[in-house]
Amino acid sequence: MAEDVTLTIDDVEVTAPVGTTVFDSARSVGIDIPHLCYSPELGLPPTGSCRLCVVEVDPPTGGLVASCCHPVAEGMVVRTSTEAVREARRLVIDLLLSDHPHDCLTCEKNGDCDLQRYAYELGVKEPEFAGETVPVDPVQDGPAIVYDRSKCILCGRCVEVCHEVQVTGAIDFQGRGFDTTIGLPPGLPRDQSVCEECGNCIDVCPVGALSFAGAQGAGRDWDFERVATTCPYCGCGCTLVLHVHDNRVVKITGAPGLGVSDGLLCVKGRFGFDFVHHDERLTQPLIRRTANGRLQPASWEEALDLVAKRLTELKEEFGADALGGLSSAKCTNEENFIMQKFMRAVLGTNNVDHCARLCHASTVAGLARAFGSGAMTNAIEDFDVADCVFVIGSNTTECHPIIGAAIKRAVVHRGVPLIVADPRTIELTEFSQVHLRQKSGTDVALINAMMHVILKEGLEDKAYIAERTEGFEDLRKAVEPYTPEFAEKITGVPAEAIIRASRLYASAPAASIVYSMGITQHTTGTDNVLSLANLAMLTGNVGKPGAGVNPLRGQNNVQGACDLGALPNVFSGYQKVDDDELRAKFERAWGVSLPAKPGLTVVEMVNAAADGTLKGLYIMGENPMLSDPDINHVEKALKNLDFLVVQDIFLTETAQLADVVLPATSFAEKDGTFTNTERRVQRVHKAVAPPGQARVDWDITCDLARRMAYEMSYPDAAAIEDEIAELTPIYGGITYDRLDKGALQWPCPDREHPGTPYLHKGRFSRGLGKFHAVEFIPPKELPDEEYPLVLTTGRILQHFHTGTMSRRTDVLDKLVSVGAIEMSPVDAERLGVADGEPVKVVSRRGEIQIAARVTERVMPGTLFLAFHFREAPANRLTIAALDPVAKIPEFKVCAVRIEKLS
Ligand code: SF4
Repeated sequence: MAEDVTLTIDDVEVTAPVGTTVFDSARSVGIDIPHLCYSPELGLPPTGSCRLCVVEVDPPTGGLVASCCHPVAEGMVVRTSTEAVREARRLVIDLLLSDHPHDCLTCEKNGDCDLQRYAYELGVKEPEFAGETVPVDPVQDGPAIVYDRSKCILCGRCVEVCHEVQVTGAIDFQGRGFDTTIGLPPGLPRDQSVCEECGNCIDVCPVGALSFAGAQGAGRDWDFERVATTCPYCGCGCTLVLHVHDNRVVKITGAPGLGVSDGLLCVKGRFGFDFVHHDERLTQPLIRRTANGRLQPASWEEALDLVAKRLTELKEEFGADALGGLSSAKCTNEENFIMQKFMRAVLGTNNVDHCARLCHASTVAGLARAFGSGAMTNAIEDFDVADCVFVIGSNTTECHPIIGAAIKRAVVHRGVPLIVADPRTIELTEFSQVHLRQKSGTDVALINAMMHVILKEGLEDKAYIAERTEGFEDLRKAVEPYTPEFAEKITGVPAEAIIRASRLYASAPAASIVYSMGITQHTTGTDNVLSLANLAMLTGNVGKPGAGVNPLRGQNNVQGACDLGALPNVFSGYQKVDDDELRAKFERAWGVSLPAKPGLTVVEMVNAAADGTLKGLYIMGENPMLSDPDINHVEKALKNLDFLVVQDIFLTETAQLADVVLPATSFAEKDGTFTNTERRVQRVHKAVAPPGQARVDWDITCDLARRMAYEMSYPDAAAIEDEIAELTPIYGGITYDRLDKGALQWPCPDREHPGTPYLHKGRFSRGLGKFHAVEFIPPKELPDEEYPLVLTTGRILQHFHTGTMSRRTDVLDKLVSVGAIEMSPVDAERLGVADGEPVKVVSRRGEIQIAARVTERVMPGTLFLAFHFREAPANRLTIAALDPVAKIPEFKVCAVRIEKLS
């Protein structure tokens, strides 16, 4: 525990730990010292270079000191605003203004500029040393960021945030003296640099040197209304500040001090917003009036009456289970709750599911079996205290960039060992001590071998195993045959690398496992998750800070959609539909009898549509025509339905097949909540009005329910949240009033409960943690003579899911406008394929044409393809083989061949 000292700052007595700076101590009592190079808001380390934060200290040190670097001392007296201090600051501002263009009237930063503010506060009107300004044209070498050297005060904040916080290290000071500038290494084109165009450099720039190209001329700072909300892309759940002018989102900035990212954003969160105002947004309902006719505009009355009529007819003729619904991980918790309530209470079926089935169904199933709860055990901020991080099957810096940056900071700033297990070389492998490059689909063999090593070397946590778990003997026997040498034959990972990784993981006081769809999207997805749970329990790494099993959920609200019961076997809060007591609770609340039989999953609904047993489907905000495996089959199935209604913000590939299309609202046009990957429930705030006649999803669904003679009305989203809290124990204490003061992590059972940053402390949700004996089973479709290559699919940083939103944003589309298939140089040479050459990729289910990207990132024999691009849809190739427990498809492994086109 650090010792405290007591000092006086501007006559205020302050107590602060030894080592605290004068600047931070002053802040702790509300005294704000002017500063330019330092940005504590974004966690930048102080450099003491701008000298604006100087103060007087007693005992004297021979001059003014930079408060951002000067440590406090017992009995110290600090004066932050004497005339000598102000004079020194005036000189700093005066010198900075000496070569600064005085074009505040037209500068984008006018009104939000620290230099302007300090000049005003210090009364610096005309610079005494007025010299030549730097006549340099602004540089824009990417689609988003503009750098104006003439306004740059070389404070270095942008360099610091890039190196120390984002840990990318793309930009730096270049040149010397008057020629000093900020930028990429000279001569290196941006698209070949490591710059991710995250734009965090713009947020920390105190002047107008760095700005967003898309917001130039869009309005003055004082014109903008600022609305804090939650990012609509990945499951990190960063807080965004939308700057709104004339009902348009003009730009997005981070929110220092708020939410999980504390001001940092990735390129998608910061620049991927103009889909909100895209001219392809749906603005009125559409109806296909004849079987093969075109979708035509209709009124809400006509469209909803038709949907209500057709769903009623199908239910009466074929029964409730001939209907199904897909809910949405993009929609709010409230909308998901209403959707599953509609399916159950109005239509009378449990056939409701969503895309969690395609990404983390195996997590929900596996962790529930092992621990009793299928969610990320720890919080994102736990990477600040983890002693080892084991990342497996997660390209974290691309798919969950803010978490990726937190892991890099742990490695770079605290020397935390990082183990990466991934068939591809990813950014995190550059930061790892060990890269386990296993063959796709061999994770169980790898993890079993790690446990074999841990047990052989006596590194297991014997007391934890004895006190907190059951089934250990079964596990011990199961992993006995998995020597590192045996696992090497299956996985291709050298035995000594497995041994090294095992020792690193097991010897850390708190070791965190991070995984994502590289683990879950297999026919053995549940086994993979159980294996990771085994590994964590074996070493006592569940139920404490900095440790845990941490599945990173893909979409912004996939956790919430699961929590709120958009699953075929549970109501909200994972309360089983076949539990009579729980079902009776919902029946009382909703005033109807509810079905007890668990419903169909996503892929099962598609199969049922194909074989004619499912007749009607209501899809809210999902696009199975790109997201589901084997989309030729999906297309046939959807076309075989008697009635398809799609509610979305664009005419997606799926909506194009619908009988009725209902225009819905984007994240920026509604109130509600999202739950991020670490179970953190956060507010979504309406910032702009929806386009045309588009309506909020829950409002559409409620209207439909009323037309089907079920009274479902709420004055606002808060009222839905109240019903959720009443019926859902893990959300029992969550209200909008509380969330407006700060997010809460479930379980939060009552209004006094502070939320739960990490699960299973002292006791697992199921009582004892359960070990499961898991055997390695190979993937369903392995390469053969006809299809000799393994295709694995995934995401890239710049795009998201089926591209519905990200591909309709200017910056993201300019950064990456087309897909490419990654191929190793060995395979490229064998096939005679050059980098950039178009090729045909063929599987047993379909074929696509796409350019080859020849890269060492993939191993020989393996190809990688992102699934965002409708022109070359990866899921035309993938296999719909399912994990028998979680029913998740095996997106990560299928056999293909490459054919040259010329
Ligand atoms: Fe949005 Fe995820 Fe990027 Fe954060 S890391 S800004 S949540 S896409």
